Amino acid sequence: MKVFHCYACGQKNDGRVVEWCSCVTTEPTLVCSGCGLCFCDAPQQYRRSFWQTASAELRARRREAQSVEGREVASRTNDPARPMILVVDDDRIVHFIVNRALSSFRVNIVHARDGREGLEKAKELRPDLILTDALLPKLDGRELCRALKSDPATETCKIVVMSGFYRGLKYRNEALQTFLADDYLEKPISQKNLFAAVTRFLDLETRLAPPAEKEPAGAGSLTY
Ligand SMILES: [Zn+2]
Ligand SMILES: [Zn+2]
Repeated sequence: MKVFHCYACGQKNDGRVVEWCSCVTTEPTLVCSGCGLCFCDAPQQYRRSFWQTASAELRARRREAQSVEGREVASRTNDPARPMILVVDDDRIVHFIVNRALSSFRVNIVHARDGREGLEKAKELRPDLILTDALLPKLDGRELCRALKSDPATETCKIVVMSGFYRGLKYRNEALQTFLADDYLEKPISQKNLFAAVTRFLDLETRLAPPAEKEPAGAGSLTY
């Protein structure tokens, strides 16, 4: 299959040139060249049958898009006056995507790969905002959230719990009420929703470059 139709608008797309989305997710999906929507919100059935019939070339591009090989995820802490965001996730591609998505924001970004490292960095650096995955090695992201919210030294830190695994209102309510998260976002998180969370919790309206309507380079771009 070299050509496929978009699930949303029906547009014909060429699988050899189509780009990958910039949603915060462990598995970026393709972006329709017609309507600009990615397939993150496509019905499960569509996605499953899509990859069952996809060409070997497209499957190879998918592996490449989801690979973290050679991707830069260094912390950005060059200006102490800027607000600090701590990203806690055990999936390296999530760090890469968040770094890239927030490249036009005047923020410092630091990274932790598990819950315990997240807790240590949060206590040491007192970030303004933490974006943490729920399911993490060593310390659960929701427990990390509750621990920080229960400590007077870190209780004012805004914390957004993210999850691609715990989905639905039950988990959202639990994260907000039991674990005291400020917000709960289900992965894949669109760039729009990521920007909305960051601007909501950090006072950034005057420091923000307008985000592009469509991200031109996807996670599968060969330039990375
Ligand atoms: Zn479309
Ligand atoms: Zn997407």
